[in-house]
Amino acid sequence: LLEKLIRPLKPLADKKQIDIDFVNLEKVQIQLDRIKIQQALTNIINNAIKYTPEGGKIKISLYTEHDEVIIKIQDNGIGIPEESLPYIFERFYRVDKARARKTGGTGLGLAITKQIIELHQGKIEVISQLNKGTTFYIYLPQNIGLNG
Ligand code: ATP
Ligand code: MG
Repeated sequence: LLEKLIRPLKPLADKKQIDIDFVNLEKVQIQLDRIKIQQALTNIINNAIKYTPEGGKIKISLYTEHDEVIIKIQDNGIGIPEESLPYIFERFYRVDKARARKTGGTGLGLAITKQIIELHQGKIEVISQLNKGTTFYIYLPQNIGLNG
């Protein structure tokens, strides 16, 4: 699924000479809404490409811990200021006007992503350092649908 959804994003990454690397792709079985999860992951990876300068690097990994599938998407881009972190999952929130003008977008991507993850009884977390990079962690329980 991850390898497939990267394909349409490749040209965008190539144009900025951004390298997308899979580190550790564990084979897992999980019940999910393919279309929705695809959209959620595409939003995150699109952001990683959009907010990482030319020549940057994006690392994606997928592994299991306890009964959760964890998808980690790490970039070494512009980062998110600490004071903005609590708001990035809100609808229409964008970090600052200068940045917003340069890149375009509506500020809906992460709000939609969070909704999709929560629909799967999962959660999403972010760690970021300004001018260093950003890492998103998506946690998906492996047994949804079995116990509600
Ligand atoms: P769109 O609706 O087109 O996705 P957007 O990318 O501005 O617009 P979100 O995806 O919701 O909106 O992201 C919200 C804000 O969080 C962005 O405007 C950006 O400032 C910041 N952001 C998100 N991902 C990253 C990232 N990987 N690195 C740096 N900043 C990020
Ligand atoms: Mg976005």
